[in-house]
Amino acid sequence: MEKLTPMMKQYFDVKNNYPDALLFYRLGDFYELFYEDAKLVSLECDLVLTSRGAGNDQKAPMCGVPHHAVTPYIQKLIGRGYKVAIVEQMEDPALAKGIVKRDVIRIITPGTVMDENADEKSEVYIAAVEDDITGYAIAACEMASGKTVLRRIEHSRFELIQYCLKNNIREIVFHSQVKERVLNRIREIPNLMISFCDEHKIDDYYIPLIEHVQRESLLTAYGRLINYLQSTQFKTLMHLQRAEIDDVQTYCELDYSTITNLELLVPLRPNGKNLTLFSYLDRCKSAMGSRLLRSWIEKPLTQITDIQYRQNQVKALVEDFLLRDQLIQHCKGVYDLQRICAKIAFRSATPQDMIRLMRSLRQIALIKNSLLTSPSFGWVEKIETLGSLLSLLENRLAEDVPATAKEGGIFLDGYNELLDHYRDVTTGGNRWLLEFENKEKERTGIKNLKVGFNRVFGYYIEISKGSMGLVKDEFGYVRKQTLTNAERYICEELKSKEDELLHAKERAIRLEEELFNDLIIEVAEYLPKIQMLASFSANVDALSSLAQVSSQSGFVLPTFKEERSIHIEESKHPLLASSQLKHEVISNSLEMKEQDIVFVLTGPNMGGKSTYMRQIALTAIMAQMGCYVLAKRAVLPIFDRIFTRMGASDDILGGKSTFMVEMNEANAALQKASESSLILFDEIGRGTSTYDGMALAQAIIEYIATITKAKTIFSTHYHELTALADSLPGVSNVFVQVFEKDEDITFLYRVKRGKADKSYGINVARLAHLPDAVIHRAKDLLKQLESRRRVVQQSMDVVEILHIPKHLEDIQKILDAISIDTITPLQALTLLDELKEKSRGAK
Ligand code: ADP
Repeated sequence: MEKLTPMMKQYFDVKNNYPDALLFYRLGDFYELFYEDAKLVSLECDLVLTSRGAGNDQKAPMCGVPHHAVTPYIQKLIGRGYKVAIVEQMEDPALAKGIVKRDVIRIITPGTVMDENADEKSEVYIAAVEDDITGYAIAACEMASGKTVLRRIEHSRFELIQYCLKNNIREIVFHSQVKERVLNRIREIPNLMISFCDEHKIDDYYIPLIEHVQRESLLTAYGRLINYLQSTQFKTLMHLQRAEIDDVQTYCELDYSTITNLELLVPLRPNGKNLTLFSYLDRCKSAMGSRLLRSWIEKPLTQITDIQYRQNQVKALVEDFLLRDQLIQHCKGVYDLQRICAKIAFRSATPQDMIRLMRSLRQIALIKNSLLTSPSFGWVEKIETLGSLLSLLENRLAEDVPATAKEGGIFLDGYNELLDHYRDVTTGGNRWLLEFENKEKERTGIKNLKVGFNRVFGYYIEISKGSMGLVKDEFGYVRKQTLTNAERYICEELKSKEDELLHAKERAIRLEEELFNDLIIEVAEYLPKIQMLASFSANVDALSSLAQVSSQSGFVLPTFKEERSIHIEESKHPLLASSQLKHEVISNSLEMKEQDIVFVLTGPNMGGKSTYMRQIALTAIMAQMGCYVLAKRAVLPIFDRIFTRMGASDDILGGKSTFMVEMNEANAALQKASESSLILFDEIGRGTSTYDGMALAQAIIEYIATITKAKTIFSTHYHELTALADSLPGVSNVFVQVFEKDEDITFLYRVKRGKADKSYGINVARLAHLPDAVIHRAKDLLKQLESRRRVVQQSMDVVEILHIPKHLEDIQKILDAISIDTITPLQALTLLDELKEKSRGAK
């Protein structure tokens, strides 16, 4: 250590306190990384690895990035699960005595990203979790906006994992003594960082934000979260909003697999061009609006009054095109105030952020004014549009401000006298020099006298060799430099002005920096009110977005009924309808009476079964969001939960077969669904052998029809299951129609009551142009199988063993091939041995 350079010593002093973080060490205009950090970051970010003298002839591996371009590198590293510590210069290098003081100003972790979140339309959360024996208490916070949510969930691994995945929790904070069992559960989640913090005392500053919270374990979780955040941010979190208690009674809970399967937010296939419900509905003009809309999709409403309240506003905007258009135009000019608020709280807002705030405030005042004309938006009157803050900013800030507070030009002339003076000096300086030159020419009579400047001795008077004889002592010129054809002098008047001229610009910039910091502190007083306005404008933006979708032709305002019957008339899958299909999109209805529970949906592959089920789910979700739906008429019950099992969605947690995932999802539905839920199962059971699958499918249908009683559509290619409609009350059949002619089929995509007469698998294979030989062979086999098939069509035991295990088939083949007349005893023995081997292998 002693042999290191002073800077390297300082580096190690800091690094030793943060061994698990990558240290971005500020040196002038660069952030530099050293030693192992440098090696790792140069690999991860594709940077050149060089070295820097570390003292005693040693070289420290090093890589660096310019300070103004650091964000993408941090984003990349955080995305890969690293922690980054930002080390800044804590004093002005120009004023520092000895080595510039440096220290960590912020630790950025996957859960504490603010500006570093690459997707402005998504929210990234960090949570603290307390195991309170009967459940998990969770406090989660989105650092970028200060939104905080408290929630208690069941004491189950599945629930905890679902919660984390659904809420995009990227980091969890535990007590360091947390049980290994709990940690192990969490470790299965990809891209989740685990951090520790033992302190959970809540600082007085945050008490008003959690006054309404009673449960001890929630308060402990909240306290731990706040303490961890303070320890990484080194600041009071002034932008934190009042903690929301997540009340599952008020919205329809969609589990992670449903959100994924229905492609509500992200397409199932990565890089897929598929539309998602979010991309379809999101016509928002601001990132805040988009984020809010996203949360509306994740949480469709369940209280009729809430739904109708939102519906009324959407309806008002659907019916008043002019108002809607005005709002859309106004929303366009609103910047991401939630993010700006966080930056103001952290004192990291830039002059441009302030201009964005100013412009957004203007737009929000326009939004309010426009809405005042509409009776459906009576509540708008109460919105305080912060005119005083707007004029404060307007009176101070220049429109054309620089990117950072270190460049000057932030404030308007006339705002600060001293600043004006410095500016006058700088702009007036050049004028003064010209005037001085003219004055001196006249005073001395030397016509080619010139005023110039160099770095060595500043401003000077230059007189050519030819005129040197005219210089007199009384001029007060002091010779400074002799050139081949001229002499350079200085004089007192010029020198006294020089100091003022040279330093005015620098002083102006420093003063502006101070004034700007004062401005941020002043604006920070308004934070809670700005946050209110942010959510107001996000609300209007999201409502206008829904109204825009709803005003398209074919959309209708759904109504809700207390009784559990569904009446959807001629609806279409909204995303399919807006895609570029080569054929017409066929509309379909769903009529489920109070007593109808399960619809068994049959029909060929590609016949439109899953499209139909998705369409029903999307219709229900859009309706409960307060949006119109693509149908002729829709009268719906309010669903408390929606469960789906569809497609071969990825195994989120890795290592499990599709079948296991399928069973987990089915289990979640069976355990949690109530009479008021909607279940959509697409070919449950196909992940295992035919009879296993069929048996499971039947048992699930029976369970739903007799115990759960949730409205269910169950698509299957096991035709045998259609028999259940005859024996189980509440079960009926529907099918997707096809038109068959000379073995060619045409999909009609029409859903009808009744059952499909066959599965058309081979016809579909023909459409896919499988070789004729395969198609013919398959047909022969089908005939054979159908003649052997013996299905017990009784509701409780459908199972029949048709499937012959592979090893028995092989053994059978060998036996068939033996000719007893010709086989030798030795051959017989060898064969016997082979058969025994096959049988043993199968076990
Ligand atoms: P299945 O689930 O029965 O295998 P899908 O629902 O996946 O069938 O539908 C297959 C394709 O058929 C879809 O990708 C779509 O192009 C088309 N399709 C489905 N339903 C309709 C419909 N109602 N109108 C028009 N085309 C449809």
